[in-house]
Amino acid sequence: MDTPQMPVLFIGHGSPMNAIEDNEFNHAWEAAARQIAKPKAILCISAHWETQGTQVTAMQAPRTIHDFYGFPRPLFEKQYPAAGSPALANRIIELVGELKVMPDQSWGLDHGTWSVLCRMYPQADVPVVQLSLDRESKNARHYQLGRELQPLRQEGVLIVGSGNIVHNLRMMVWEDTAFDWAVEYDEKVKQWILDGEHESIIHYEKYGKPAMLAVNSAEHYLPLLYILGLKDKDEPISFFADKLWGGSLSMRCVRFG
Ligand code: ZN
Repeated sequence: MDTPQMPVLFIGHGSPMNAIEDNEFNHAWEAAARQIAKPKAILCISAHWETQGTQVTAMQAPRTIHDFYGFPRPLFEKQYPAAGSPALANRIIELVGELKVMPDQSWGLDHGTWSVLCRMYPQADVPVVQLSLDRESKNARHYQLGRELQPLRQEGVLIVGSGNIVHNLRMMVWEDTAFDWAVEYDEKVKQWILDGEHESIIHYEKYGKPAMLAVNSAEHYLPLLYILGLKDKDEPISFFADKLWGGSLSMRCVRFG
C-alpha cells in the first residue's frame, strides 16, 4: 500500500566530528528528522563511496566504515548498527533497469552516511542502504538516476544525498570563515535551486572559476544531482544549516517536499 510521499534531503555533512560533537549543524539535522514521518527505510547517496559502475549495498547487516584518519578515538569507536535491506536493494536494481545498478556485499555505511544518520536516527532502527557514485558517469546521468528513483518516495523510503555543495579541502582553513568565491557559488546554487534551473547546476563548469574552486573534486557535489532529480515540479523547497565554514566548505542542507 502506498504511503504519503516522503521528502528528499541533501545534507552538507562536513567533518566526521559532526557525528559526536554538538553543534548547530547536527542540531539542524536532528530537527529535520523530527519533522519527517519515520521512514520504512533510508537510501543514502554518500560522497564517500565511488565505484566502477553504480552499486547498491545489499547485505543484511552493513558494517560501520571509519573512512578517515587523524580523528579522536571516540569517533573510531562509534558504531551505527542499522540493518541493511536486501529487499530495497533489489527494488532499486529493478527500478533503474537500463541505467544498471549492481548489488554489493562488501561496502557498508561510510561516514558520509552514518555521521549524519547517527544524529537523525540515533536508535539506528531504520534499515539503510547506500548507492555508490559511478566514477565514469557524466553529471547528467547522476541526475537521471535520481529521477528514476522517484517511485521510492511513495514507498516510505527517505532518500538522502550526503556531500557538500562547496567542498575544497585543499583550500580549507580550520576557522569560522568563508572565502568570497565560496559564498558566491553557494548562493548561486541556492538561487538555481529556487528557480528550478537544474541544468545550470548539472553543468556547473559553465559558471567558471568560483564553480571550479567550489566543486573541486566533484564527489561531494554529485549527491546533490540525485536529490534534484528526485524533486517533483511544484513541491516546497527549504534550506537549513545554510552556513559556510572553514573558508571553503558549505554546510547548506536542502529539503524538497
Ligand atoms: Zn565528506
